[in-house]
Amino acid sequence: MALPNHVKTIIIGAGIHGLSTAWHLAAKLEAQGKGGGQDILVIDKAGIAAGASGIACGVVRNNYYQPAMRELMAQCVEVWESDPEAFHYHPVGYMQISPESMRANVAEIFEQQQAIGYGSVFVEGEAESTAYMKGMFDDWQARGITSVLHEKKGGYANNTASMYGLAGKAEALGVRIATGIKVTGFKTGHNSAAVTGVETDRGVIDCDQVVVAVGPWASTLWNLLELPKTVSIKGQDGTLHENIPMWRYWALEEGTLGVDPDLQKTNDGKMPPVIHVDTDAPLYSDVDGSLITDKMWGIYYKPDFNFGGIQGGAMPYEVKTPVDQVAIDPYGPDSPDFIVDDNFAHMWCSALAFCQKRFEGQIGKYKKEPSGGLGCFTPDSFPVFDRFRENVTVIADSNHGYKMIGVGKLIAEELLNGESELLKPFRFSRYAEGKLHPVSNSPFPWS
Ligand SMILES: Cc1cc2nc3c(=O)[nH]c(=O)nc-3n(C[C@H](O)[C@H](O)[C@H](O)COP(=O)(O)OP(=O)(O)OC[C@H]3O[C@@H](n4cnc5c(N)ncnc54)[C@H](O)[C@@H]3O)c2cc1C
Repeated sequence: MALPNHVKTIIIGAGIHGLSTAWHLAAKLEAQGKGGGQDILVIDKAGIAAGASGIACGVVRNNYYQPAMRELMAQCVEVWESDPEAFHYHPVGYMQISPESMRANVAEIFEQQQAIGYGSVFVEGEAESTAYMKGMFDDWQARGITSVLHEKKGGYANNTASMYGLAGKAEALGVRIATGIKVTGFKTGHNSAAVTGVETDRGVIDCDQVVVAVGPWASTLWNLLELPKTVSIKGQDGTLHENIPMWRYWALEEGTLGVDPDLQKTNDGKMPPVIHVDTDAPLYSDVDGSLITDKMWGIYYKPDFNFGGIQGGAMPYEVKTPVDQVAIDPYGPDSPDFIVDDNFAHMWCSALAFCQKRFEGQIGKYKKEPSGGLGCFTPDSFPVFDRFRENVTVIADSNHGYKMIGVGKLIAEELLNGESELLKPFRFSRYAEGKLHPVSNSPFPWS
């Protein structure tokens, strides 16, 4: 594609956020008679779905302890539901199955889901939880569980296919998507912080505004925008914590058990909800009975024809390398550093067997293919959606974001009509102001 010299809006990144923003902005410009897709150029250094959106497990859930996250996710689920076919979305529901230490947190989530009309069922008590799970899977055998939150909405979508669905919607409205073009810097005007163009390895493209939606590369583009590498955060007690690094990386561990996905059908022959189990019961090896962990642990899984088996993951681990030295490229399964190893397969397959008898002795069917990938996290592990340098909107989802297909819609609204109430709790200023989100007892950094 011949690159234009000037375009009104440049969106960097052809993942869930860049493509959703492009589609919604084009539609809104057209509806308001202010232009259309021809005013938008999406640039990606590789291709559509080349980043985290193309390798995500694809889980779509509402289960968050933070009210602002739940309200945002409810809006996102509505966008998924608006065209399940184009987004390859499977609305099978989602289950959070938890130990006693999480019961009170999850009970609160349930109450607030009732308040916002998000359909879910909450079961409390050890015997009651087991009975509920056995009613769905007669081989259920997980221990240390005292509550079950069953979200009737949500589920999962097929990662790459859904990105092409989104790209198709944007392109149908005239949006151009230029791939194989890397952003290397920003051009600025005189006497102003505003960006007047984007520098790429194919030349400069002038523009009126920029949206940065680069997922795991957020820290790199943040540096190109010359934004602060550290932040001050006001704690709940009012103390200011200085020099906190703005970014850090976690490695996500996921894999696939290569069995027929139909193996995981429910007692009544239906495709099941996505299962997420956290427990403090000791986990023993399904291979030799040795202790894997006696600390709190968690896994998630779903049958998935796209991955060809039972696909899911476990808790991520923090990458200790200084952030500017982390090798983000090559990304995902191509990375020599951030793919899962045999320890993950052993833990995750043993955990599957802990939950359901049908998975006992199946570890030999684990797919030995590279999987997993990096996520770029903010200081509090919650998203930053904000405007910097006067005309640059940054969508940095802190790795929450495949499910957040609706954020692009809200960003498009902000670009045209002013501040969105749902996005307000995710401003950068919350660190200095101490307006932080509540923290849950989950072993995952994203719950
Ligand atoms: C293994 C794994 C599993 C996950 N599972 C889930 C899940 O089940 N549910 C969920 O909600 N979230 C999940 N996530 C998180 C989710 O995938 C991400 O939060 C989300 O996809 C980020 O979307 P994005 O559009 O911001 O970025 P991406 O999808 O990463 O897209 C960014 C794009 O920017 C491009 N880019 C980068 N730098 C430049 C540059 N300099 N110039 C031009 N282009 C550039 C890249 O090529 C890339 O295509 C998972 C993440 C991982 C790693």
